[in-house]
Amino acid sequence: MRLAVCVKEVPEASARTRIDPGTLRLDRGGAATLNPFDAHALEEALRIKERTGEGEVVAVMMAPLPAADSLRKALAIGADRAVHVADDALAGSDLVATARTLAKAVEREEPDLILLGQQGGDSDGAVLWSALADLLRLPVVSQAASLELAEGKVAVKRQTEYGYDLIEAPLPCIVAVSDAINEPRYPSLKGIMGAKKKPHETLNAADLGLGADEIGEAGSRTEVYALADPPSRGDSVRIEGDGAAAEKVVEYLTERKLI
Ligand SMILES: Cc1cc2nc3c(=O)[nH]c(=O)nc-3n(C[C@H](O)[C@H](O)[C@H](O)COP(=O)(O)OP(=O)(O)OC[C@H]3O[C@@H](n4cnc5c(N)ncnc54)[C@H](O)[C@@H]3O)c2cc1C
Repeated sequence: MRLAVCVKEVPEASARTRIDPGTLRLDRGGAATLNPFDAHALEEALRIKERTGEGEVVAVMMAPLPAADSLRKALAIGADRAVHVADDALAGSDLVATARTLAKAVEREEPDLILLGQQGGDSDGAVLWSALADLLRLPVVSQAASLELAEGKVAVKRQTEYGYDLIEAPLPCIVAVSDAINEPRYPSLKGIMGAKKKPHETLNAADLGLGADEIGEAGSRTEVYALADPPSRGDSVRIEGDGAAAEKVVEYLTERKLI
């Protein structure tokens, strides 16, 4: 059983989000970390491997070379192997070009199950897994709150606004896990030391058979024309909690005929 886990590097939550005015892209030059949502996908892969007593967990990332530290963290947590797709030509890749690249990297692994986090902690898109499923022509289940593998199938309890859907899909299959599925483990000292010896492959676009027109800005369908601060919401009123705040809120809303 081979389990591929797509992991992304994102800016640290405490880092101030900056847009590079030259490229109109997120400035990813500051402190970065493994996407916290992907730690749940990795944890689930490790639990499947532990439950079944066999298998290999491969962490797959598309990101510039310095992101190798985040991939090493995935290895320290427990992944057996890492595949890093890094190439200057990938800069400016939108969802389409990113999914195209990851699809090639994942396909090469011939995994039985492909796990992803529910969203990237920086752009919160929550769409990459469906784009990947479309490109690989595989079934996809999102918001997995639990999953079980048996007889060539995955059975997923899918979290929804009104309860749970119970979904079965044949393997190979893509599952995006909810952040409620498990409590991710931290890397141990032994894991951190062991990570240095684990296979860590770096690939470029040509290794994946991707042409210049399929990646980066040339391979993207999105173009950012301009970015600006959101418009001001007009005069705001701060109502302090001095005991009469509720009445003041009601008064404020009544005056404006909002209630
Ligand atoms: C015009 C444009 C230019 C852009 N330029 C760049 C750029 O230069 N550099 C850049 O980093 N981003 C760039 N982006 C953002 C990039 O396209 C998105 O990060 C990417 O499409 C993934 O979308 P998401 O973060 O919304 O992922 P989501 O759909 O929220 O992610 C879901 C899951 O997919 C997996 N995943 C997502 N991204 C990766 C990844 N790279 N590797 C492995 N697994 C992943 C993770 O498991 C994650 O939990 C650009 C976007 C646009 C629109």
